[in-house]
Amino acid sequence: MKVEMDDIDDLTICDSVSSLIEGCRLPVHMTGTNDWPLAEIISIKDVASSKYYYVHYVDFNKRLDEWVTEESLDTRKVHFPRKDTGGCSTGVSTPKKLQIGGGSGSVACPASGGGGGGGGGGGSGIIAASGGVANLPSGGGVVSRPASPVNNVELLNGNAVLAAALQKRINRKRKGPSLESEDSQDAPQGLTPGPRQSGSMVSHHDDIVTRMKNIELIELGKHRIKPWYFAPYPQEMVNLDCIYICEFCLKYRKSRKCLERHLAKCNLRHPPGNEIYRKDNISFFEIDGRKNKVYAQNLCLLAKLFLDHKTLYYDTDPFLFYIMTVLDIRGFHIVGYFSKEKESTEDYNVACILTMPPYQRKGYGKLLIEFSYELSKFEGKTGSPEKPLSDLGLLSYRSYWAQTILEILLSMKPIGENEKPQITINEICELTSIKKEDVISTLQNLNLINYYKGQYIITLSKETIESQLKAMESRKIRIDPKCLHWTPKDWGKRAKW
Ligand SMILES: [Zn+2]
Repeated sequence: MKVEMDDIDDLTICDSVSSLIEGCRLPVHMTGTNDWPLAEIISIKDVASSKYYYVHYVDFNKRLDEWVTEESLDTRKVHFPRKDTGGCSTGVSTPKKLQIGGGSGSVACPASGGGGGGGGGGGSGIIAASGGVANLPSGGGVVSRPASPVNNVELLNGNAVLAAALQKRINRKRKGPSLESEDSQDAPQGLTPGPRQSGSMVSHHDDIVTRMKNIELIELGKHRIKPWYFAPYPQEMVNLDCIYICEFCLKYRKSRKCLERHLAKCNLRHPPGNEIYRKDNISFFEIDGRKNKVYAQNLCLLAKLFLDHKTLYYDTDPFLFYIMTVLDIRGFHIVGYFSKEKESTEDYNVACILTMPPYQRKGYGKLLIEFSYELSKFEGKTGSPEKPLSDLGLLSYRSYWAQTILEILLSMKPIGENEKPQITINEICELTSIKKEDVISTLQNLNLINYYKGQYIITLSKETIESQLKAMESRKIRIDPKCLHWTPKDWGKRAKW
């Protein structure tokens, strides 16, 4: 892994914090830890004669970015941004993309060289990664980007981003269908959607505005959640202590009072659309991005708070949204969702995928993934998630692929006596709907493929088998295909979605 630092000048002794500017890199005390990792100053603001610094920890995910005060800065070791990149008042240097751990390239390249595995014969291979899940470098997928110092405070809000997006689209001189806007709040974007560039439209506004979190806190049902990333909520929603979101229709309000007024009128107790799956308290609702545009847009806005790269706010028409909920006496509460293109030319079966933070690390992410492959099985094809995956998304997928494939391998019976069970890669794909590339990379990651007497064989060690059985035990909730009531539509045959 190579990190280019060519936009950074040599180490400079900094006599006081007053000489710090945006783009400087220095050790910063990370809140809640005893660590002082290298961080970049993204923005500086004065509030009541105190200076606040918005910092990005260079080797960590952006979700850890935060405002700190002077005391958290170690000014003995400051790297100033290089002067010849255009100067700090005008220079918007070209964002550099750095791929770490296959974050934006192929999904599951071997985590640490791996490969080969040595020509083990017989029944036991050597497994490199215990537990069957390859590890990512911490904060994998974090991209090192130079600062783009824009000192204009006017730009520091969502509306400016939207205006910029609109301008970009006008410049492209391409027209799309207008939004149906019930009222300005429900369709805050108020923009004419432009052409999609990819399934979920990767963000192109890699600037100071979108690099900074702009929402303090959201209240969603009984949860209060701290956002991780920027989301283009309208300006009047930014800089509030908290945004109050109706957990059923996802409309947002400025205060609890406003939300209470809304709840008195809002009759929804579940996401709009059809409930296509229910088992125990878990349900899935299918939402058409064209028919339920306001809901879909509000969902995308909410999701953007927790997804760094994927941004899709305007043109929800080409997508279906699958919302996973848990049911209690108050209603169906959103746990997570994934979006999916109605037609994908590249066999993507998921565009964006998110488990809401209060429900993370409880097995729901894998349940969402399992459901997406169940839909692909019903469609009779293989699929793969759209890239780039987030760091957490990649971990979940790798773990899901490993478990699913090992489950199949362990269930195989030998055909005859003294015969070893046989299966082809294609058969694994057919059984799981996992795309061939992902199957192969998973087998490689797990170091299961060996070349023996002229053919490739899969060897399972005791350790692999044991860790797999353990993993299966901990996965208590599973998707039951019998509870899915759904027929795939052939969107290609329709003139319009
Ligand atoms: Zn509502």
